[in-house]
Amino acid sequence: MSGGEVRLVMGDQLNAQHSWFAERDDEVVYLMMEVRQETDYVRHHVQKVVAFFLAMRAFAEARRAEGHRVHYVALDDGENAQTIEGNLRAALARYGTQRWAHQQVDEWRLDEQFRSLRERVGEGREVDSEHFLTARGDLAQLFEGKKTYLMERFYREMRKRHGVLLDAAGEPEGGKWNYDADNRSKWPKGHVPPAPLEFERDVRPVVELLERSGVEALGAAEPFGWAVTREEAEATLAHFVAELLPRFGALQDAMTTQGWALYHSRLSFVMNAKILHPMEVIRAVEEAWRADPERVPLNAAEGFIRQILGWREYVRGIYWARMPEYAELNALGAERAMPAWFWTGNTRMACMRHAIGQTLQHSYAHHIQRLMVTGNFALLAGLHPDEVDAWYLGVYIDALEWVEMPNTRGMSQFADGGIVGTKPYAASANYIQKQGDYCSGCAYKAKERVGPQSCPLNSLYWDFHARNRPLLEPNPRIGMVYRNWDRKSTEEQQALLARAAEVLDQIESL
Ligand code: FAD
Ligand code: SF4
Repeated sequence: MSGGEVRLVMGDQLNAQHSWFAERDDEVVYLMMEVRQETDYVRHHVQKVVAFFLAMRAFAEARRAEGHRVHYVALDDGENAQTIEGNLRAALARYGTQRWAHQQVDEWRLDEQFRSLRERVGEGREVDSEHFLTARGDLAQLFEGKKTYLMERFYREMRKRHGVLLDAAGEPEGGKWNYDADNRSKWPKGHVPPAPLEFERDVRPVVELLERSGVEALGAAEPFGWAVTREEAEATLAHFVAELLPRFGALQDAMTTQGWALYHSRLSFVMNAKILHPMEVIRAVEEAWRADPERVPLNAAEGFIRQILGWREYVRGIYWARMPEYAELNALGAERAMPAWFWTGNTRMACMRHAIGQTLQHSYAHHIQRLMVTGNFALLAGLHPDEVDAWYLGVYIDALEWVEMPNTRGMSQFADGGIVGTKPYAASANYIQKQGDYCSGCAYKAKERVGPQSCPLNSLYWDFHARNRPLLEPNPRIGMVYRNWDRKSTEEQQALLARAAEVLDQIESL
Protein backbone atom coordinates (compact mmCIF):
# COMPACT_ATOMS: atom_id res chain seq x y z
CA MET A 1 0.00 0.00 0.00
CA SER A 2 2.62 2.54 -1.01
CA GLY A 3 -0.02 5.26 -1.29
CA GLY A 4 -1.51 4.32 2.05
CA GLU A 5 -1.33 5.64 5.57
CA VAL A 6 -0.62 4.20 8.99
CA ARG A 7 -2.85 5.78 11.63
CA LEU A 8 -1.93 5.50 15.27
CA VAL A 9 -4.64 5.01 17.86
CA MET A 10 -3.39 5.40 21.42
CA GLY A 11 -4.93 3.61 24.41
CA ASP A 12 -6.88 6.69 25.47
CA GLN A 13 -8.17 7.43 21.95
CA LEU A 14 -10.84 4.75 21.68
CA ASN A 15 -13.34 7.02 19.99
CA ALA A 16 -15.35 4.90 17.54
CA GLN A 17 -17.26 8.01 16.45
CA HIS A 18 -14.07 9.67 15.22
CA SER A 19 -14.37 10.70 11.55
CA TRP A 20 -11.49 8.34 10.76
CA PHE A 21 -13.88 5.43 11.13
CA ALA A 22 -16.79 6.88 9.16
CA GLU A 23 -15.60 5.08 6.01
CA ARG A 24 -13.59 1.96 5.36
CA ASP A 25 -10.40 2.52 3.43
CA ASP A 26 -8.17 -0.40 2.47
CA GLU A 27 -5.26 2.01 2.04
CA VAL A 28 -5.35 2.77 5.75
CA VAL A 29 -3.98 0.60 8.55
CA TYR A 30 -4.79 1.48 12.15
CA LEU A 31 -1.82 0.80 14.42
CA MET A 32 -2.45 0.06 18.08
CA MET A 33 0.13 -1.07 20.59
CA GLU A 34 0.66 -2.16 24.19
CA VAL A 35 4.07 -0.80 25.12
CA ARG A 36 6.32 -0.71 28.16
CA GLN A 37 6.76 3.00 27.59
CA GLU A 38 3.14 3.42 28.73
CA THR A 39 2.93 0.69 31.36
CA ASP A 40 6.06 1.92 33.15
CA TYR A 41 6.08 5.76 33.19
CA VAL A 42 4.55 5.57 36.67
CA ARG A 43 3.64 2.63 38.90
CA HIS A 44 0.01 2.02 37.94
CA HIS A 45 -2.77 0.16 39.66
CA VAL A 46 -3.04 -3.23 37.96
CA GLN A 47 -6.74 -2.62 37.17
CA LYS A 48 -5.82 0.56 35.34
CA VAL A 49 -3.42 -1.24 32.98
CA VAL A 50 -5.84 -4.14 32.57
CA ALA A 51 -8.71 -1.75 31.80
CA PHE A 52 -6.72 0.06 29.12
CA PHE A 53 -5.51 -3.18 27.51
CA LEU A 54 -8.98 -4.74 27.52
CA ALA A 55 -10.55 -1.59 26.15
CA MET A 56 -7.93 -1.36 23.40
CA ARG A 57 -8.38 -5.00 22.43
CA ALA A 58 -12.17 -4.65 22.34
CA PHE A 59 -11.85 -1.48 20.25
CA ALA A 60 -9.51 -3.19 17.78
CA GLU A 61 -11.90 -6.13 17.43
CA ALA A 62 -14.91 -3.87 16.91
CA ARG A 63 -13.14 -1.86 14.18
CA ARG A 64 -12.01 -5.08 12.45
CA ALA A 65 -15.59 -6.32 12.57
CA GLU A 66 -16.60 -3.13 10.74
CA GLY A 67 -14.03 -3.94 8.05
CA HIS A 68 -11.18 -1.63 9.05
CA ARG A 69 -7.61 -2.90 8.87
CA VAL A 70 -6.09 -2.94 12.36
CA HIS A 71 -2.53 -3.90 13.20
CA TYR A 72 -2.45 -4.64 16.93
CA VAL A 73 0.86 -5.13 18.72
CA ALA A 74 0.34 -7.00 22.00
CA LEU A 75 2.72 -6.54 24.92
CA ASP A 76 4.38 -9.91 24.40
CA ASP A 77 4.51 -9.92 20.60
CA GLY A 78 8.01 -10.83 19.48
CA GLU A 79 8.01 -7.88 17.05
CA ASN A 80 7.05 -5.35 19.78
CA ALA A 81 9.77 -2.66 20.06
CA GLN A 82 8.08 -1.49 23.31
CA THR A 83 8.21 2.14 22.19
CA ILE A 84 5.84 4.15 20.01
CA GLU A 85 8.67 5.14 17.71
CA GLY A 86 9.98 1.61 17.25
CA ASN A 87 6.56 0.20 16.44
CA LEU A 88 5.69 3.08 14.15
CA ARG A 89 8.90 2.67 12.14
CA ALA A 90 8.29 -1.07 11.87
CA ALA A 91 4.72 -0.53 10.64
CA LEU A 92 5.80 2.02 8.03
CA ALA A 93 8.39 -0.44 6.74
CA ARG A 94 5.93 -3.34 6.78
CA TYR A 95 3.21 -1.47 4.89
CA GLY A 96 5.65 0.26 2.56
CA THR A 97 4.55 3.82 3.19
CA GLN A 98 6.01 6.97 4.69
CA ARG A 99 2.66 8.50 5.50
CA TRP A 100 1.33 8.30 9.00
CA ALA A 101 -1.11 10.19 11.21
CA HIS A 102 -2.04 10.46 14.84
CA GLN A 103 -4.76 12.12 16.85
CA GLN A 104 -3.86 15.03 19.09
CA VAL A 105 -2.63 13.59 22.38
CA ASP A 106 -3.51 14.85 25.82
CA GLU A 107 -0.33 14.62 27.83
CA TRP A 108 2.64 16.92 27.64
CA ARG A 109 5.23 14.14 27.50
CA LEU A 110 3.43 12.50 24.56
CA ASP A 111 2.83 15.79 22.80
CA GLU A 112 6.57 16.46 22.87
CA GLN A 113 7.29 12.95 21.67
CA PHE A 114 4.87 13.24 18.76
CA ARG A 115 6.17 16.65 17.79
CA SER A 116 9.63 15.12 17.51
CA LEU A 117 8.32 12.05 15.65
CA ARG A 118 6.57 14.20 13.06
CA GLU A 119 9.88 15.97 12.41
CA ARG A 120 11.99 12.83 12.23
CA VAL A 121 9.89 9.94 10.97
CA GLY A 122 8.34 9.78 7.46
CA GLU A 123 5.52 12.16 6.71
CA GLY A 124 3.48 12.50 9.86
CA ARG A 125 0.42 14.63 10.46
CA GLU A 126 -1.74 15.39 13.47
CA VAL A 127 -5.54 15.44 13.48
CA ASP A 128 -8.03 16.46 16.16
CA SER A 129 -9.13 13.79 18.62
CA GLU A 130 -12.72 15.08 18.20
CA HIS A 131 -13.41 14.46 21.85
CA PHE A 132 -13.24 17.65 23.90
CA LEU A 133 -15.67 20.53 23.98
CA THR A 134 -12.90 23.13 23.88
CA ALA A 135 -9.67 23.47 21.95
CA ARG A 136 -6.48 23.23 24.01
CA GLY A 137 -5.91 26.99 24.06
CA ASP A 138 -9.49 28.22 24.60
CA LEU A 139 -9.20 28.68 28.35
CA ALA A 140 -5.96 30.63 28.13
CA GLN A 141 -7.60 32.87 25.54
CA LEU A 142 -10.71 33.46 27.65
CA PHE A 143 -8.62 34.55 30.61
CA GLU A 144 -5.93 36.41 28.72
CA GLY A 145 -4.40 39.12 30.90
CA LYS A 146 -6.23 37.86 34.03
CA LYS A 147 -4.43 36.68 37.17
CA THR A 148 -6.98 34.07 38.14
CA TYR A 149 -8.90 31.60 36.03
CA LEU A 150 -12.35 31.42 37.59
CA MET A 151 -14.00 28.09 36.87
CA GLU A 152 -17.48 29.56 37.31
CA ARG A 153 -16.92 32.13 34.55
CA PHE A 154 -15.57 29.44 32.23
CA TYR A 155 -18.51 27.17 33.02
CA ARG A 156 -21.11 29.84 32.19
CA GLU A 157 -19.38 30.44 28.88
CA MET A 158 -19.54 26.72 28.17
CA ARG A 159 -23.25 26.53 29.03
CA LYS A 160 -23.93 29.33 26.56
CA ARG A 161 -21.58 28.07 23.87
CA HIS A 162 -23.06 24.58 23.91
CA GLY A 163 -26.65 25.52 24.77
CA VAL A 164 -26.79 23.32 27.85
CA LEU A 165 -29.52 23.75 30.51
CA LEU A 166 -30.69 27.03 29.01
CA ASP A 167 -34.29 28.19 28.66
CA ALA A 168 -35.84 29.60 25.48
CA ALA A 169 -34.47 33.06 26.30
CA GLY A 170 -30.94 31.68 26.68
CA GLU A 171 -31.02 32.10 30.47
CA PRO A 172 -30.01 29.34 32.90
CA GLU A 173 -32.80 26.89 33.65
CA GLY A 174 -34.36 27.56 37.05
CA GLY A 175 -32.87 31.08 37.12
CA LYS A 176 -29.49 30.15 38.61
CA TRP A 177 -26.28 28.94 36.99
CA ASN A 178 -25.16 26.92 39.97
CA TYR A 179 -27.09 24.85 42.53
CA ASP A 180 -24.13 23.78 44.61
CA ALA A 181 -25.70 25.05 47.81
CA ASP A 182 -28.21 22.16 47.55
CA ASN A 183 -25.46 19.59 46.97
CA ARG A 184 -23.78 19.34 50.34
CA SER A 185 -25.87 16.90 52.35
CA LYS A 186 -24.23 14.50 54.73
CA TRP A 187 -24.65 10.75 54.35
CA PRO A 188 -28.05 9.69 55.81
CA LYS A 189 -27.41 7.48 58.82
CA GLY A 190 -27.52 3.77 57.96
CA HIS A 191 -28.45 4.41 54.31
CA VAL A 192 -27.07 1.71 52.00
CA PRO A 193 -26.35 2.85 48.42
CA PRO A 194 -27.21 0.66 45.42
CA ALA A 195 -24.44 -1.72 44.35
CA PRO A 196 -22.36 -0.35 41.47
CA LEU A 197 -23.03 -1.83 38.02
CA GLU A 198 -20.15 -4.22 37.34
CA PHE A 199 -19.29 -6.45 34.40
CA GLU A 200 -17.91 -9.92 34.95
CA ARG A 201 -15.05 -11.16 32.84
CA ASP A 202 -11.93 -13.24 33.25
CA VAL A 203 -9.05 -10.81 33.56
CA ARG A 204 -6.47 -13.44 34.52
CA PRO A 205 -4.93 -13.75 31.03
CA VAL A 206 -4.08 -10.02 30.95
CA VAL A 207 -2.93 -10.00 34.57
CA GLU A 208 -0.68 -12.96 33.86
CA LEU A 209 0.66 -11.23 30.78
CA LEU A 210 1.66 -8.24 32.93
CA GLU A 211 3.24 -10.51 35.55
CA ARG A 212 5.11 -12.51 32.92
CA SER A 213 6.38 -9.33 31.31
CA GLY A 214 7.62 -7.93 34.63
CA VAL A 215 5.31 -4.89 34.65
CA GLU A 216 5.31 -3.60 38.23
CA ALA A 217 1.78 -2.75 39.23
CA LEU A 218 -0.01 -2.21 42.54
CA GLY A 219 -3.37 -3.04 44.07
CA ALA A 220 -5.82 -5.92 43.70
CA ALA A 221 -6.43 -7.31 40.22
CA GLU A 222 -9.83 -8.71 41.13
CA PRO A 223 -12.72 -8.27 41.44
CA PHE A 224 -12.58 -6.31 38.19
CA GLY A 225 -15.95 -4.93 37.16
CA TRP A 226 -15.12 -1.92 35.00
CA ALA A 227 -16.83 -1.08 31.72
CA VAL A 228 -14.30 -1.40 28.90
CA THR A 229 -16.43 -1.71 25.75
CA ARG A 230 -18.71 0.80 24.11
CA GLU A 231 -21.76 -1.30 25.04
CA GLU A 232 -20.71 -1.51 28.68
CA ALA A 233 -20.00 2.22 28.77
CA GLU A 234 -23.47 2.93 27.42
CA ALA A 235 -24.96 0.56 30.00
CA THR A 236 -23.05 2.34 32.79
CA LEU A 237 -24.39 5.69 31.63
CA ALA A 238 -27.95 4.34 31.39
CA HIS A 239 -27.67 2.81 34.85
CA PHE A 240 -26.37 6.07 36.28
CA VAL A 241 -29.24 8.08 34.79
CA ALA A 242 -31.88 5.57 35.87
CA GLU A 243 -30.66 4.66 39.34
CA LEU A 244 -28.12 7.13 40.68
CA LEU A 245 -28.59 10.57 39.18
CA PRO A 246 -31.62 11.57 41.29
CA ARG A 247 -29.51 11.46 44.45
CA PHE A 248 -26.17 12.38 42.90
CA GLY A 249 -26.55 16.08 43.67
CA ALA A 250 -27.55 16.02 47.31
CA LEU A 251 -25.07 13.26 48.20
CA GLN A 252 -22.12 14.16 46.00
CA ASP A 253 -20.08 15.47 48.95
CA ALA A 254 -21.16 12.76 51.40
CA MET A 255 -18.89 9.99 52.70
CA THR A 256 -19.62 6.58 54.16
CA THR A 257 -18.19 3.15 54.75
CA GLN A 258 -21.48 1.70 53.39
CA GLY A 259 -20.15 1.61 49.84
CA TRP A 260 -17.31 2.63 47.56
CA ALA A 261 -18.98 4.38 44.65
CA LEU A 262 -22.18 5.70 46.30
CA TYR A 263 -24.19 7.79 43.79
CA HIS A 264 -21.20 8.63 41.57
CA SER A 265 -21.25 7.65 37.91
CA ARG A 266 -17.90 5.83 37.55
CA LEU A 267 -17.80 7.20 34.00
CA SER A 268 -14.38 8.87 34.25
CA PHE A 269 -12.45 5.91 32.78
CA VAL A 270 -14.72 5.48 29.75
CA MET A 271 -14.72 9.20 29.12
CA ASN A 272 -10.95 9.58 29.57
CA ALA A 273 -10.36 6.61 27.25
CA LYS A 274 -12.76 8.45 24.86
CA ILE A 275 -15.13 5.50 24.64
CA LEU A 276 -17.92 7.89 25.59
CA HIS A 277 -18.10 11.48 24.39
CA PRO A 278 -18.68 14.05 27.14
CA MET A 279 -21.59 15.59 25.22
CA GLU A 280 -23.38 12.22 25.09
CA VAL A 281 -23.19 12.08 28.86
CA ILE A 282 -24.27 15.71 29.32
CA ARG A 283 -27.24 15.36 26.95
CA ALA A 284 -28.39 12.11 28.59
CA VAL A 285 -28.48 13.86 31.95
CA GLU A 286 -30.14 17.02 30.63
CA GLU A 287 -32.79 14.94 28.85
CA ALA A 288 -33.49 12.94 32.02
CA TRP A 289 -34.14 16.19 33.91
CA ARG A 290 -36.34 17.61 31.12
CA ALA A 291 -38.31 14.36 30.88
CA ASP A 292 -39.05 14.14 34.59
CA PRO A 293 -37.89 16.99 36.82
CA GLU A 294 -39.68 15.42 39.77
CA ARG A 295 -37.48 12.35 39.53
CA VAL A 296 -34.26 14.15 38.57
CA PRO A 297 -34.02 17.44 40.44
CA LEU A 298 -32.30 20.37 38.73
CA ASN A 299 -29.60 20.54 41.41
CA ALA A 300 -28.61 16.94 40.55
CA ALA A 301 -28.57 17.48 36.77
CA GLU A 302 -26.79 20.84 36.96
CA GLY A 303 -24.32 19.63 39.61
CA PHE A 304 -23.38 16.64 37.48
CA ILE A 305 -23.18 18.52 34.20
CA ARG A 306 -20.93 21.16 35.81
CA GLN A 307 -18.36 18.45 36.60
CA ILE A 308 -18.04 17.54 32.93
CA LEU A 309 -18.86 20.70 30.99
CA GLY A 310 -17.11 22.83 33.60
CA TRP A 311 -14.42 21.12 35.65
CA ARG A 312 -13.24 18.52 33.18
CA GLU A 313 -12.71 20.99 30.34
CA TYR A 314 -11.42 23.66 32.73
CA VAL A 315 -8.62 21.53 34.23
CA ARG A 316 -7.58 20.49 30.75
CA GLY A 317 -7.36 24.17 29.77
CA ILE A 318 -5.25 24.92 32.85
CA TYR A 319 -2.95 22.01 31.99
CA TRP A 320 -2.27 23.31 28.49
CA ALA A 321 -2.04 26.94 29.61
CA ARG A 322 0.54 26.18 32.30
CA MET A 323 2.58 23.15 31.30
CA PRO A 324 5.41 22.29 31.55
CA GLU A 325 6.10 24.67 34.49
CA TYR A 326 2.97 23.45 36.25
CA ALA A 327 4.57 20.06 36.99
CA GLU A 328 7.27 21.79 39.08
CA LEU A 329 5.10 24.09 41.19
CA ASN A 330 5.38 23.81 44.95
CA ALA A 331 4.02 27.12 46.23
CA LEU A 332 3.82 25.97 49.86
CA GLY A 333 7.32 24.46 49.83
CA ALA A 334 5.98 21.07 50.95
CA GLU A 335 8.86 18.61 51.37
CA ARG A 336 7.72 15.75 53.59
CA ALA A 337 7.95 12.16 52.33
CA MET A 338 4.68 10.28 51.87
CA PRO A 339 4.12 7.73 54.65
CA ALA A 340 4.38 4.11 53.52
CA TRP A 341 0.78 3.36 54.54
CA PHE A 342 -0.49 5.37 51.56
CA TRP A 343 0.44 2.25 49.59
CA THR A 344 -1.17 -0.26 52.02
CA GLY A 345 -4.04 1.53 53.79
CA ASN A 346 -2.59 0.28 57.03
CA THR A 347 -3.44 3.18 59.34
CA ARG A 348 -5.69 3.68 62.36
CA MET A 349 -7.23 6.79 60.78
CA ALA A 350 -10.59 5.33 59.66
CA CYS A 351 -11.21 7.87 56.89
CA MET A 352 -7.79 7.29 55.34
CA ARG A 353 -8.00 3.53 55.80
CA HIS A 354 -11.32 3.40 53.96
CA ALA A 355 -10.36 5.77 51.14
CA ILE A 356 -6.98 4.13 50.55
CA GLY A 357 -8.37 0.63 51.08
CA GLN A 358 -11.00 0.99 48.37
CA THR A 359 -8.46 2.71 46.12
CA LEU A 360 -6.22 -0.35 46.29
CA GLN A 361 -9.19 -2.69 45.92
CA HIS A 362 -11.04 -0.94 43.09
CA SER A 363 -8.63 1.65 41.64
CA TYR A 364 -11.34 4.17 42.48
CA ALA A 365 -12.29 6.73 45.08
CA HIS A 366 -14.97 9.35 44.57
CA HIS A 367 -14.16 13.01 44.34
CA ILE A 368 -14.72 14.01 47.94
CA GLN A 369 -12.52 11.15 49.17
CA ARG A 370 -9.74 12.26 46.81
CA LEU A 371 -10.08 15.90 47.78
CA MET A 372 -11.13 15.94 51.42
CA VAL A 373 -9.65 12.71 52.78
CA THR A 374 -6.38 11.69 51.12
CA GLY A 375 -5.78 15.10 49.52
CA ASN A 376 -6.56 17.00 52.71
CA PHE A 377 -4.21 14.83 54.76
CA ALA A 378 -1.38 15.28 52.24
CA LEU A 379 -1.95 19.04 52.21
CA LEU A 380 -2.05 19.43 56.00
CA ALA A 381 0.96 17.15 56.53
CA GLY A 382 2.94 19.00 53.84
CA LEU A 383 3.70 15.97 51.65
CA HIS A 384 5.84 16.74 48.62
CA PRO A 385 3.56 17.43 45.61
CA ASP A 386 5.76 15.27 43.34
CA GLU A 387 5.03 12.24 45.50
CA VAL A 388 1.38 13.14 45.84
CA ASP A 389 1.09 13.53 42.06
CA ALA A 390 2.79 10.18 41.44
CA TRP A 391 0.40 8.52 43.87
CA TYR A 392 -2.77 9.91 42.27
CA LEU A 393 -1.44 9.28 38.77
CA GLY A 394 -0.72 5.67 39.63
CA VAL A 395 -3.61 4.52 41.76
CA TYR A 396 -6.74 5.64 39.88
CA ILE A 397 -8.26 3.95 36.86
CA ASP A 398 -9.07 7.34 35.32
CA ALA A 399 -5.69 8.96 36.00
CA LEU A 400 -4.18 10.65 32.99
CA GLU A 401 -1.88 13.55 33.64
CA TRP A 402 -3.94 16.28 31.93
CA VAL A 403 -6.76 15.77 34.42
CA GLU A 404 -4.88 14.30 37.38
CA MET A 405 -2.26 17.02 37.76
CA PRO A 406 -4.38 20.20 37.93
CA ASN A 407 -6.69 18.38 40.34
CA THR A 408 -3.86 17.15 42.55
CA ARG A 409 -1.18 19.81 42.41
CA GLY A 410 -3.71 22.60 41.96
CA MET A 411 -7.09 21.99 43.52
CA SER A 412 -6.00 19.59 46.22
CA GLN A 413 -2.44 20.59 47.20
CA PHE A 414 -2.55 24.34 46.39
CA ALA A 415 0.97 23.86 45.03
CA ASP A 416 0.05 26.19 42.14
CA GLY A 417 -0.48 29.01 44.64
CA GLY A 418 -4.11 29.53 43.64
CA ILE A 419 -4.47 29.06 39.89
CA VAL A 420 -7.16 26.38 40.15
CA GLY A 421 -8.60 27.07 43.60
CA THR A 422 -8.97 30.45 45.27
CA LYS A 423 -7.98 28.91 48.61
CA PRO A 424 -6.64 25.58 49.87
CA TYR A 425 -9.17 22.84 50.61
CA ALA A 426 -7.99 22.41 54.20
CA ALA A 427 -10.26 20.83 56.79
CA SER A 428 -10.16 19.48 60.32
CA ALA A 429 -12.07 16.40 61.54
CA ASN A 430 -15.12 18.58 61.86
CA TYR A 431 -15.80 18.43 58.10
CA ILE A 432 -15.28 14.70 57.79
CA GLN A 433 -17.45 14.00 60.80
CA LYS A 434 -20.21 16.25 59.45
CA GLN A 435 -20.27 14.62 55.99
CA GLY A 436 -20.50 10.97 56.99
CA ASP A 437 -19.85 8.06 59.29
CA TYR A 438 -16.07 7.60 59.16
CA CYS A 439 -15.35 9.06 62.59
CA SER A 440 -17.63 6.73 64.52
CA GLY A 441 -15.39 3.76 63.68
CA CYS A 442 -12.06 5.49 64.28
CA ALA A 443 -9.32 4.95 66.83
CA TYR A 444 -8.99 8.75 67.09
CA LYS A 445 -11.51 11.18 68.55
CA ALA A 446 -12.86 13.73 66.09
CA LYS A 447 -13.78 16.16 68.85
CA GLU A 448 -10.38 16.14 70.58
CA ARG A 449 -7.71 18.55 69.44
CA VAL A 450 -4.77 17.62 71.64
CA GLY A 451 -3.72 14.46 73.45
CA PRO A 452 -2.82 11.02 72.10
CA GLN A 453 -6.41 10.16 71.09
CA SER A 454 -7.04 13.43 69.29
CA CYS A 455 -7.72 13.26 65.56
CA PRO A 456 -4.43 14.08 63.80
CA LEU A 457 -6.25 16.40 61.41
CA ASN A 458 -7.27 18.81 64.18
CA SER A 459 -3.78 19.86 65.19
CA LEU A 460 -2.41 19.53 61.64
CA TYR A 461 -5.09 21.95 60.46
CA TRP A 462 -3.76 24.70 62.73
CA ASP A 463 -0.14 23.79 62.11
CA PHE A 464 -0.76 24.05 58.36
CA HIS A 465 -2.19 27.55 58.71
CA ALA A 466 0.45 28.68 61.20
CA ARG A 467 3.37 27.56 59.04
CA ASN A 468 1.90 28.97 55.81
CA ARG A 469 0.72 32.24 57.34
CA PRO A 470 2.81 34.63 55.23
CA LEU A 471 1.42 33.16 52.01
CA LEU A 472 -2.18 32.54 53.06
CA GLU A 473 -3.11 35.38 55.41
CA PRO A 474 -3.42 38.07 52.71
CA ASN A 475 -6.12 35.94 51.05
CA PRO A 476 -9.45 37.52 52.11
CA ARG A 477 -11.14 34.09 52.01
CA ILE A 478 -8.78 32.80 54.73
CA GLY A 479 -8.52 35.82 57.02
CA MET A 480 -11.12 34.44 59.43
CA VAL A 481 -8.96 31.38 60.19
CA TYR A 482 -6.16 33.64 61.40
CA ARG A 483 -8.52 35.77 63.47
CA ASN A 484 -9.67 32.56 65.21
CA TRP A 485 -6.08 31.45 65.71
CA ASP A 486 -5.09 34.80 67.19
CA ARG A 487 -7.98 34.61 69.64
CA LYS A 488 -6.55 31.40 71.15
CA SER A 489 -4.36 31.67 74.22
CA THR A 490 -0.62 31.14 73.80
CA GLU A 491 -0.91 27.88 75.79
CA GLU A 492 -3.62 26.58 73.50
CA GLN A 493 -1.64 27.49 70.40
CA GLN A 494 1.46 25.82 71.80
CA ALA A 495 -0.45 22.68 72.73
CA LEU A 496 -1.87 22.42 69.20
CA LEU A 497 1.52 22.95 67.57
CA ALA A 498 3.13 20.43 69.93
CA ARG A 499 0.49 17.81 69.10
CA ALA A 500 0.99 18.50 65.38
CA ALA A 501 4.75 18.06 65.78
CA GLU A 502 4.12 14.75 67.55
CA VAL A 503 1.74 13.63 64.79
CA LEU A 504 4.26 14.48 62.08
CA ASP A 505 6.99 12.77 64.05
CA GLN A 506 4.92 9.59 64.18
CA ILE A 507 3.50 9.93 60.70
CA GLU A 508 4.54 6.40 59.70
CA SER A 509 2.52 4.86 62.55
CA LEU A 510 -0.64 6.97 62.65
P1 FAD B 1 -18.63 11.62 39.18
O1 FAD B 1 -18.63 12.13 40.55
O2 FAD B 1 -19.76 10.77 38.76
O3 FAD B 1 -18.52 12.88 38.20
C1 FAD B 1 -18.84 12.79 36.81
C2 FAD B 1 -17.69 13.16 35.94
O4 FAD B 1 -17.32 14.50 36.09
C3 FAD B 1 -16.43 12.37 36.16
O5 FAD B 1 -16.49 11.12 35.51
C4 FAD B 1 -15.37 13.28 35.57
O6 FAD B 1 -15.23 13.06 34.19
C5 FAD B 1 -15.94 14.66 35.79
N1 FAD B 1 -15.31 15.31 36.93
C6 FAD B 1 -15.77 15.43 38.18
N2 FAD B 1 -14.95 16.19 38.93
C7 FAD B 1 -13.92 16.52 38.12
C8 FAD B 1 -12.74 17.28 38.31
N3 FAD B 1 -12.45 17.86 39.47
N4 FAD B 1 -11.88 17.38 37.28
C9 FAD B 1 -12.16 16.81 36.09
N5 FAD B 1 -13.27 16.09 35.86
C10 FAD B 1 -14.14 15.96 36.86
N6 FAD B 1 -10.49 12.81 37.51
C11 FAD B 1 -10.04 12.07 36.50
O7 FAD B 1 -10.78 11.82 35.54
N7 FAD B 1 -8.75 11.61 36.48
C12 FAD B 1 -7.90 11.85 37.52
O8 FAD B 1 -6.75 11.43 37.48
C13 FAD B 1 -8.37 12.61 38.61
N8 FAD B 1 -7.56 12.86 39.68
C14 FAD B 1 -8.03 13.58 40.72
C15 FAD B 1 -7.17 13.86 41.79
C16 FAD B 1 -7.61 14.61 42.86
C17 FAD B 1 -6.68 14.92 44.00
C18 FAD B 1 -8.93 15.09 42.88
C19 FAD B 1 -9.43 15.92 44.02
C20 FAD B 1 -9.79 14.82 41.83
C21 FAD B 1 -9.35 14.07 40.73
N9 FAD B 1 -10.19 13.79 39.63
C22 FAD B 1 -9.71 13.08 38.58
C23 FAD B 1 -11.55 14.36 39.55
C24 FAD B 1 -12.67 13.46 40.12
O9 FAD B 1 -12.36 13.12 41.44
C25 FAD B 1 -12.90 12.22 39.28
O10 FAD B 1 -13.15 12.61 37.94
C26 FAD B 1 -14.11 11.44 39.76
O11 FAD B 1 -13.94 11.07 41.11
C27 FAD B 1 -14.31 10.21 38.89
O12 FAD B 1 -15.34 9.41 39.36
P2 FAD B 1 -16.79 9.40 38.71
O13 FAD B 1 -16.69 9.14 37.26
O14 FAD B 1 -17.64 8.49 39.52
O15 FAD B 1 -17.23 10.92 38.91
FE1 SF4 C 1 -10.57 10.63 60.10
FE2 SF4 C 1 -10.09 11.98 62.34
FE3 SF4 C 1 -12.55 11.12 61.80
FE4 SF4 C 1 -10.63 9.40 62.44
S1 SF4 C 1 -11.47 10.99 63.74
S2 SF4 C 1 -12.13 9.18 60.77
S3 SF4 C 1 -8.85 10.33 61.50
S4 SF4 C 1 -11.41 12.63 60.65
